[in-house]
Amino acid sequence: MTRYVFITGGVVSSLGKGIAAASLASLFKLRGFKVSLQKLDPYINLDPGTMSPIQHGEVFVTDDGAETDLDLGHYERFVGIKMTQDSNVTAGRVYSNVINKERKGEYLGSTVQVIPHITDEIKKLIIRGAKNSDIAFVEIGGTVGDIESLPFLESIRQFSLELGNSRSIFVHLTLLPYIDVTNEIKTKPTQHSVKELRSIGIQPDILLCRGKNPINQKLKKKIALFTNVSENAVFSAVDAKSIYDVPMLFREQKIDEYMLKKFKLKSKRLNLKPWSTYKSKVGKCKKTVKIAVIGKYVDLADSYKSLNEALYHSAVINNRVIDITYLDSEKITKSSVKKLKLMDGILVPGGFGNRGIEGKVLAAQYARINKIPYLGICLGMQISVIEFARNVLKLKNANSTEFNSNTKHPVIALVEEWKDSLGKKIISDKKNMGGTMRLGAQDCTLLKGSLAHKSYKKIAINERHRHRYEVNNALLKLFDNSGLIFSGESKKGNLMEIVELKDHPWYLACQFHPEFTSSPISGHPLFNGFIAASIKKRK
Ligand code: GLN
Repeated sequence: MTRYVFITGGVVSSLGKGIAAASLASLFKLRGFKVSLQKLDPYINLDPGTMSPIQHGEVFVTDDGAETDLDLGHYERFVGIKMTQDSNVTAGRVYSNVINKERKGEYLGSTVQVIPHITDEIKKLIIRGAKNSDIAFVEIGGTVGDIESLPFLESIRQFSLELGNSRSIFVHLTLLPYIDVTNEIKTKPTQHSVKELRSIGIQPDILLCRGKNPINQKLKKKIALFTNVSENAVFSAVDAKSIYDVPMLFREQKIDEYMLKKFKLKSKRLNLKPWSTYKSKVGKCKKTVKIAVIGKYVDLADSYKSLNEALYHSAVINNRVIDITYLDSEKITKSSVKKLKLMDGILVPGGFGNRGIEGKVLAAQYARINKIPYLGICLGMQISVIEFARNVLKLKNANSTEFNSNTKHPVIALVEEWKDSLGKKIISDKKNMGGTMRLGAQDCTLLKGSLAHKSYKKIAINERHRHRYEVNNALLKLFDNSGLIFSGESKKGNLMEIVELKDHPWYLACQFHPEFTSSPISGHPLFNGFIAASIKKRK
């Protein structure tokens, strides 16, 4: 019998509901419970795949190829379980399902309405997302009071009623602003937010109060009085040094024990060791490692969420504090690129469209010539191939057809364009024919003895993709004995997945996204290797 924890947010967005949900779920996973996590997003897009990373942050890709909200990345990193298509539900998905059913006549002539049809569909999707776990954590996106969230809040209200006593808990994450001038913590916004929730029939069981400092008993008493939440259920969610400290901060206040009691569940032994070991490891990191990320979505840190986390993880594994400098690739010129000399490593991440491409090519060239460790991801690998073709093979206008559809040397192109580039027909994995995005986890075979092989310490790997363009196999011969090695191939489709340089301390670029599968405990083989090489460069 699955129990449900519904997590809502109040006062302002970006309070860290995703981290709170992931941290709570982690505490239960570490007690041996089977947990699941799900994010309900009130926007109309079918999924975040079409949303600009500058508006909504990164698009996180799951093994099964779903393009999802970045909170799912936190879920995977904190809890170590794989998210799926069912783990992220948007209002668009709900409405689309309902409209499809209506078109098929499944509602037998009735008027299709928000209540009960939309709310029933939401409940169905919540149950599907729970995957028969012991405890399902369901985070509702947005802030209480938004018009869009109403059907979702109504659904969880109904659902909790249907579940009956001790099978659901409402957790509300709220903000307690601190006023400098009067040296006071204010509770009024929280009172209002809970009032809003109660007016739609939801009485929160637990309040997580976000703020700079822990709250004292007097304040808890006041909040309890105004919100009708038990005084013992008002907890602090203080700003943490690292997000990975949050599970322990929650545990110190025994939030998990309070929840176990509420659920009438027998307690199992909690093994907090992974987080406490991690914390002490982070505490020992003193020296820094400086990495330049050459991107185009540099104005919003969330655009590269998983990337930032992966760099942080591998820095800690290598005993270092990560120091990331984001450089806008549009501003990189032949002379300004020289500033990269100060960096220990250079990373060119994924991206779409041709804005800033030339700056990335300059950065990849600088890393190649000056032997600075380089990691290219997705677009970053395509950039490596273009740069090498232009500057080493002297194919002056080599490019990707994404940026110049008439290029004479389309070293990167859609699979269906390959045959035109040499007038020959290429046999490739039909499933991966271009035009649509190549999404999700795919098998790749590594070249024996390559840097990739040494990093992974195995030949067969599986990594997540999200792109349309590929290295053009019709032009591969041009790279024979050139010093650029193709060291990873897709198992099915002979698509090129990894390139590396022969005479370079550490230069590797991959067509897939290793950042999605990095974890705080073990990092990711490519990031770990890249950071280790960057540290060596400094010595
Ligand atoms: N724009 C490139 C493509 O579609 C790379 C995409 C990416 O970096 N995720 O192939």
